[in-house]
Amino acid sequence: MDADIEKVLIDEEVILRRLDVMAERILEELGNEEILVVGILTGALVFMADLLRRLPVPLQIETLSVASYHGGTESSGVVKFLDAKLPEVEGRNILLCDDILDTGRTLKAVRTKLMEMGAARVKTAVLLSKDKDRAEDVEADYYAFGMGDEFVVGYGLDYQGRYRNLPYVGVLKEEVYSR
Ligand code: 5GP
Ligand code: MG
Repeated sequence: MDADIEKVLIDEEVILRRLDVMAERILEELGNEEILVVGILTGALVFMADLLRRLPVPLQIETLSVASYHGGTESSGVVKFLDAKLPEVEGRNILLCDDILDTGRTLKAVRTKLMEMGAARVKTAVLLSKDKDRAEDVEADYYAFGMGDEFVVGYGLDYQGRYRNLPYVGVLKEEVYSR
C-alpha cells in the first residue's frame, strides 16, 4: 500500500495533535450537553474513532451511509441515503462527522435531513476541508486541516475501497489510476 503513495500530505502525529485541539473546541461549545455523534460511513470511521476518544463526556454514537461517489474520483452530484432506518435524532444535539468536505453536497444533504428529522442542533466536524468553491452553501463548524483541490486517500479515505487503513493522508501515484 505504501508503495502506491506518491507523497504523504499529513502524517499521523500531526493529525492526532490537531484532533486534540478540535476536541477541546468541541468540548468548550458542546461539552455541557449530551451529544449524539453521527458518522457518515465509511470514510468518517477512522477520524471519528480518534476524535471520540478525545471527548470524555457522555455521548452516543450512530452512523449512516450515503452514496455520492460510485468508485471514481469525481462527485456524482446526487446524495442517496442507503440505510433502511436512519438514527433517532429528535431533539438531539448532533455532532455530524465526515472525512472530507469537498463539493459540500454530502454534508449539506445529511445536515438538512437530520434537521428535517427533528434534531435540535447539528454541528459538523470533518478531518479535511478542500479550499474551493462549493456546489452547496455549507462549511464545517470544525475541521482539522484545510487543503487544496486534490484527491487524497488514507486515514479513512479510500480509492475504490482501498487505502482507508493508511494511518496518514496521502496522494496516490498517477499509475494507480490507470491500473
Ligand atoms: P462532497 O459531497 O463534499 O463533494 O464530498 C464528500 C464525500 O466525497 C466524502 O465523504 C468522501 O467520501 C468523498 N471525497 C471527496 N473528496 C475526496 C478525496 O479527495 N478523496 C477521497 N478518497 N474521497 C473524497
Ligand atoms: Mg464519504
